Amino acid sequence: MVKRVGVIGGGQLAWMMADGAKKLGLELVVQTPSGDDPAVAIATYSIFAAIDDATATAQLADRAEVITFENEFIDLIGLSHLADRGVQFCPSLQALTPLLDKFDQRSYLQQHGLPTPEFRLLQGSSGIAALGFPVVLKARRHGYDGKGTFIVRTPDAFPIPRDAIAPDQWLLEAFVPFQGELAVMAARSPKGEIAIYPVVETQQVDQVCRRVFVTSDWSLEIVEQVNAIARTLLTSLNFVGIMGIEFFLTPEGKVLVNETAPRTHNSGHYSLDACVTSQFEQQLRCVSNLPLGDPSLNCPGAVMINLLGHESMMQNGDDRRQTLTQIPNAHLYWYNKTPRPGRKLGHVTVTLEAGQGRAEAEEMGRSVEEIWYG
Ligand code: ADP
Repeated sequence: MVKRVGVIGGGQLAWMMADGAKKLGLELVVQTPSGDDPAVAIATYSIFAAIDDATATAQLADRAEVITFENEFIDLIGLSHLADRGVQFCPSLQALTPLLDKFDQRSYLQQHGLPTPEFRLLQGSSGIAALGFPVVLKARRHGYDGKGTFIVRTPDAFPIPRDAIAPDQWLLEAFVPFQGELAVMAARSPKGEIAIYPVVETQQVDQVCRRVFVTSDWSLEIVEQVNAIARTLLTSLNFVGIMGIEFFLTPEGKVLVNETAPRTHNSGHYSLDACVTSQFEQQLRCVSNLPLGDPSLNCPGAVMINLLGHESMMQNGDDRRQTLTQIPNAHLYWYNKTPRPGRKLGHVTVTLEAGQGRAEAEEMGRSVEEIWYG
């Protein structure tokens, strides 16, 4: 029976596992670079080391029966030596292998008949010409919050001189003139049971997620496309754990996978307050071989707003936070990170009441943003 779960990564995603762990009687041990990282405060024990330090993960393995991830910027080869010695990873390293690099991930999706934007490696001008402009340039690894993703509008607007970058480390993909961006959380247990959360809409500002709307606005056809993709992907990978999947909704109503994250995800934070089982508890259920929890909503819907650092909150962030807590049905999560402009410092979820829908969610989202961003 699992009692202690090792977590690679000690940011806000690991921090938000605390309630689920307590409920399930589990202890969390984290591997994270700094004593200031959010999850250090809730962990039974912390190992201070880089995410990709496999030697530190060996120490983590000495203190936990199973290791899971809140961050996928890992050293897969280093970890595979530990797996060979019997260390349990959940999801397995095999399931993670095709997902860690954006080119490999897109190739895997394509091989399994799952829809993605057209893509290729950056290999000189012929590839670029074939995809046209605008075109999207992405670093194959270590991209997050839009870092490593560039929308290139004209041939002479490349952000980095093309001869200065290794063409095989970058991916080019067709720009999708999407009507919206959707996301879903999906979990799979060791027995192959699958639980899929509601389809949500995400909105990004400067390529960073700003808002998530959890309202049942999507046609059955769209929800079925999303759910079918989630099922195929988790099953084909033999994935055990929770995964966030982000999509583009094309103007024709077709769903394309943008990217997957083999862990809890920002687009699922609303589940802490708006679902029977949060994404964090669900991840712990998967890794400790417990039956999956119910992913359905416990309220009519919700809106989640990310609180990013910005110049004027540096002076009066506490007052702004205080004001946010006055909003009816608002749930504020503050990650206790050092504020920096552009950094995700917290989030607010406002749950909806009977009779409320998208219009009210938008209004509440605007109130939160007005208070935080001014
Ligand atoms: P990250 O891994 O850093 O989150 P993403 O690949 O998800 O990067 O890109 C961040 C955002 O950039 C997306 O949410 C979307 O708004 C925009 N974007 C990324 N790829 C495309 C694309 N092919 N077409 C149009 N917009 C895109």
